[in-house]
Amino acid sequence: MTVPSLTARDVSRIYENRNAVANATLKLHAGRITCLLGPSGCGKSTLLRLVAGLEPVDSGEIEIGGTIVSAPGKTVAPEDRGIGLVFQDFALFPHLSVADNIGFGLKNLPASQRRERVMTLLAQFHLEALADKWPHTLSGGEQQRVAIARALARSPSVLLLDEPFSGLDGHLRATVRQSVLADLRTTGTAVLIVTHDPEEAMLIADELALMAGGRILQTGSPPECYLRPVSIEAARLLGEATILPVRISGGVANTPFGIIPAPEMPDGEANAMIRPEALRFDMAGVPVKVVDVRFGGAFQTVTLAAQDLMITARMSGTSLPEVGAQICVSLDPARTVIYPS
Ligand code: ADP
Repeated sequence: MTVPSLTARDVSRIYENRNAVANATLKLHAGRITCLLGPSGCGKSTLLRLVAGLEPVDSGEIEIGGTIVSAPGKTVAPEDRGIGLVFQDFALFPHLSVADNIGFGLKNLPASQRRERVMTLLAQFHLEALADKWPHTLSGGEQQRVAIARALARSPSVLLLDEPFSGLDGHLRATVRQSVLADLRTTGTAVLIVTHDPEEAMLIADELALMAGGRILQTGSPPECYLRPVSIEAARLLGEATILPVRISGGVANTPFGIIPAPEMPDGEANAMIRPEALRFDMAGVPVKVVDVRFGGAFQTVTLAAQDLMITARMSGTSLPEVGAQICVSLDPARTVIYPS
């Protein structure tokens, strides 16, 4: 892969004797969207602020384009480190037009060049018709495009967005997200998006960084992280998972809901992580009892029981199983992972 546009190496930030960010390592690449995903309070915004230069690192270092911009005792200012920042509330200047908001950071350019750059960004983000409008007359999605265009005005190598879609609801959210991401991809900038929404993160990311308790647990593509999480903690960040104690014998884990191959694991106790969609109807599978059925449109949420253990399955198919019935199921090994106890 190419040289990263930004590398945060082992960075930590301590508040009141607690590590808000602990030895986090993160690489951002030109033209790629990285999503930093984790629950509220895990340190995402703090890491974003460290990358932005809004806060000093207590240890570790951050490098942008070959230059160290953060290290203990050294913090290059946000405006001097080649990053663009989009705040959650967009923070547009209310007394400036759309065009002047976008051109705000370009005051050092001659007027003609400044105008040209603003025109380019207006076109790139489909804002030409709104150039003379005041921010308060724009929709949420339009305000966001202005905020992104403004953040990109000085051609930063890295663009940071903190929960950019959380203020938009339902249908609008999906539409705005799609068009913003398409526009962002045309810029070739390395993009870091902070979100606490796993589905959103998997939809938009080229690369995920899973964070919990101040630490980066795993980085990788969405399928890598979802299907092969490095730990049970990482698995839970991306979606529902049932954890069952299992016994490995001869490279196989026998569960009451089916068999999981575990060729690399030694014989003994282990834990199986089973995604809800891993369970399939299978005439040749093992018999289990249907305890509950919830209709969910495309998928049914079915609670299954076997040998005093229960599991939540998300099953497709036109005929719903009946509560109390016995059905036969097997497990999709691609959606199950065995971890040492
Ligand atoms: P997230 O963005 O994932 O919700 P934050 O980075 O905002 O998490 O916060 C991480 C932890 O650091 C939390 O426990 C939070 O209370 C704490 N924290 C954040 N900012 C400060 C601060 N300025 N002073 C003290 N503690 C802080």
